[in-house]
Amino acid sequence: MISRLVRDLLSLGSAMAIVVVVAACTSTGAVVPPTPSQTSTMGTWSYEGSAGPDNWGEIAAACRDGEGSRESPIDIQLAKLLPATSAKTVMVNYGPTVFSAENTGHAVEAVPENLTADSVTADGTTYYLQQFHFHVSSEHTLDGSYSAAELHFVNKSVDGKVLVLGVLVQLGDASSALDEMLSKLPSSSASPDNVTALTKPIDPSVFLPSGSPSAQYEGSLTTPPCTEGVRWNVYLTPITISSSQLAELTSRYSANHRPTQPLHDRLVERVPAA
Ligand SMILES: [Zn+2]
Repeated sequence: MISRLVRDLLSLGSAMAIVVVVAACTSTGAVVPPTPSQTSTMGTWSYEGSAGPDNWGEIAAACRDGEGSRESPIDIQLAKLLPATSAKTVMVNYGPTVFSAENTGHAVEAVPENLTADSVTADGTTYYLQQFHFHVSSEHTLDGSYSAAELHFVNKSVDGKVLVLGVLVQLGDASSALDEMLSKLPSSSASPDNVTALTKPIDPSVFLPSGSPSAQYEGSLTTPPCTEGVRWNVYLTPITISSSQLAELTSRYSANHRPTQPLHDRLVERVPAA
């Protein structure tokens, strides 16, 4: 029950008002706090029409662009990336994990049974994988170009810092690791039918492009409430999925991506491969 509550709190796609604060305690001793709680009711949102991204600022102030905004996603301009120290390289400690597949109403998402089973470290901080989900098409662009899709691995530290790994997805060879999840995607987004337990463990690291440098910057959640202070690590090398796998994703959500946001005075660093 506790992990379910934490999952709900952590869901980037959740439009629910959140007033409950719980913590996940596990055998590792790590306690991962929930995403900053919302204390007022946030209206519903979508990716189109009057509740679309242009009007998200009406339900969550941080979504509104302004001077000093540090919102995501952004266009990554490759020629303007600044060199970063290797200390910023994200070390990934993901392994075979039991997930459930969830249809959040805004995205297709996979949530680990154990919220401290998988982690990444960067700059001396450990962040635990809370969920990964898909956007179609990509949210980040490279020199203005979209990829077919984008995967986000949302990781959180014990003191509440968020680091997201962004993986651009292009059409090509199928990703066999995706089949287990795709074959069991709930078509309903209404609880409790929107969650399916997966039987075969998935190693999330198989979705990460090996040997790829990354672009790193300070940004935000890409869904309301658009909370800032999120560390983004977007791999510059895409992975591939097949056209039928993309069609499977698109059958659930065909355009669940936020437009790119102004960079303002932020720096984007090129981080070497791990
Ligand atoms: Zn996302």
